[in-house]
Amino acid sequence: MAKISINLATGAFQQEEIIVGIDLGTTNSLVAFINPEKNPQVINDTGKGLLVPSVVHFNAKGDALVGNEAKDFLITDPANTIFSVKRLLGRSYKDVANHQDTFSYKIIDDEGDSLVKIKAGDRFYTPIELSGEILKELKARAEHALKTPVNRAVITVPAYFNDSQRQATRDAGKLAGLDVLRIVNEPTAASLAYGIGLDPAQQKTIAVYDLGGGTFDVSILSIQNGIFEVLSTNGNTFLGGDDFDRAIVYYWIAKNKLNKEELSADLSLMQSLRLKAEEAKKALSSQNLFNEKLGDIWCTLDMQTFEELVKDKVAETITSCKNALKDAKLSVEEIDEVILVGGSTRTPYVKQQVESFFGRKPHDQINPDEVVALGAAIQADILAGNRSDILLLDVTPLSLGIETMGGLMDVIVPRNAKVPTKAGRQYTTSLDGQVNMKISVFQGERDLVSENRKLAEFDLKGIPAMPAGLPKVDINFLLNADGILTVQAIELRSGVKQEIDITPSYGLTDDTVERMLIDSITHAKSDVEQRMLIEARGEGEQLVYTAERFIDKHSEFLNETEISETRNYVDALKAALTATVKDEILKKADELNEFTRPFAERVMDVAVSSAMKGKSIDK
Ligand code: ADP
Ligand code: MG
Repeated sequence: MAKISINLATGAFQQEEIIVGIDLGTTNSLVAFINPEKNPQVINDTGKGLLVPSVVHFNAKGDALVGNEAKDFLITDPANTIFSVKRLLGRSYKDVANHQDTFSYKIIDDEGDSLVKIKAGDRFYTPIELSGEILKELKARAEHALKTPVNRAVITVPAYFNDSQRQATRDAGKLAGLDVLRIVNEPTAASLAYGIGLDPAQQKTIAVYDLGGGTFDVSILSIQNGIFEVLSTNGNTFLGGDDFDRAIVYYWIAKNKLNKEELSADLSLMQSLRLKAEEAKKALSSQNLFNEKLGDIWCTLDMQTFEELVKDKVAETITSCKNALKDAKLSVEEIDEVILVGGSTRTPYVKQQVESFFGRKPHDQINPDEVVALGAAIQADILAGNRSDILLLDVTPLSLGIETMGGLMDVIVPRNAKVPTKAGRQYTTSLDGQVNMKISVFQGERDLVSENRKLAEFDLKGIPAMPAGLPKVDINFLLNADGILTVQAIELRSGVKQEIDITPSYGLTDDTVERMLIDSITHAKSDVEQRMLIEARGEGEQLVYTAERFIDKHSEFLNETEISETRNYVDALKAALTATVKDEILKKADELNEFTRPFAERVMDVAVSSAMKGKSIDK
């Protein structure tokens, strides 16, 4: 299956490596490649099936088992069987503490740095290691089926993954011995699988609706001249088929009048119920009633009840669709095609709701749980140079910027900017003789950095001592096609330079991306007020600093009253600065300015004329 070519210079055979496409899913993972007939195909390692459940079990010795065999341990050994680890990738304990009840294993808050770890046996594992185990299994299956080493891969991630999560995915690939050529957004892969955009003459706007086991996202893509551009994305990283299962479990608990507390203590019974609920849900994708027993618990579910149970969750996804369209500034009528992705879109009610919202029949011809891996294989083929006419553009889901005066967020790359992208801005120092500049990089939509997510921080050192405002520091953001950020700071006069690739802090303090977006809207008004107050304060503080320095430096040109009066105005401004009334600060600043202007001008004249004098004496 691997291509073989002959090196004409040496006469040696060279085997061209296959690059695989991997869908590393919350619930299921799979690997695909382009077969000799040039069609994408999911790899089926004889008898093991196409979907590899993203479940890892550790035995007493600490050996990992991945996939269906591991899934069986969800019932017999739930504490050492880890599922849905993708939900924990790049997240902090704080992010997931509310969801602890959805996990049957132990999630640990690592001392202080808030990095999530998972306990299995007597060892702690990071989500990266666990994802690495899943990728190792996929790599092994691909190698076994293709009978050739597999070292390079394209891995997909939800469009909503932030930089930390993308980087964590990359690291997991590295741990599995894979060279990750590209991290691709799942909706982009899905549209590739449908061949949409492969014809350069095609011009389309499409919506990709992806409801999997643990995440939901919708993306609006514009495809033109063979270029894919993500116009907007929206979703919820804590919404998926798992929620449907949970709703069914709680329904049965209530129906059977079971003791909730006793049940929660019985992890393996809870898991059995969870798996039974999933079975019922899947059955209802092709029949109207599910009726079984688990021990002496009646597990009955009819279509109408099921739809009632999931109605609100599905409605939430439709709201996301609305918001995505709004962000893309498009109406429903402007969407040419809709693609369904994710196993949960097999639920007829979900299909109906999507169809009725978009007013058109969505694509569901390709298995929704395979479509992303198939598209990833096509992307891998493009990267291998086999389809060089295609370009891919993605979009950044959250704004990126740096902290400026008073803790304000200064956006450099706005949300929904096309990736790859480059942007920059010039800054300066605020203190005389300042030789270091702290550059803190944030992600988010709020005006205050404290409300956003910190990605990294570094010092630009060795700025030559100059008066405040003179150094020119260019800060450039380079966001590459994987959505990984490089930040460069350079002082233009001296050339001192500092650059970092963001090594994101895996321990996050943010909520989901969606939460951040909603927060930015609900807090817009107070954010603006706070920003104005902080800006007024910044100006006021700068003015106090300048005025005091002015009196010290130029006291010889000023008389006693001018000096003492200036001091009074400065004190009044200082007092205003301790309060939180913006207008008061601005008023006192104005008064100080008004008072000092005449003699500031006078001093300036003297300074200029003495400088001129100096010059003429020199010559
Ligand atoms: P992920 O991308 O999160 O790994 P998948 O796309 O594999 O997830 O979807 C997994 C989800 O799809 C699970 O919640 C599973 O129960 C659900 N699912 C699979 N088959 C069906 C079906 N026939 N009907 C309804 N839901 C299904
Ligand atoms: Mg998926």
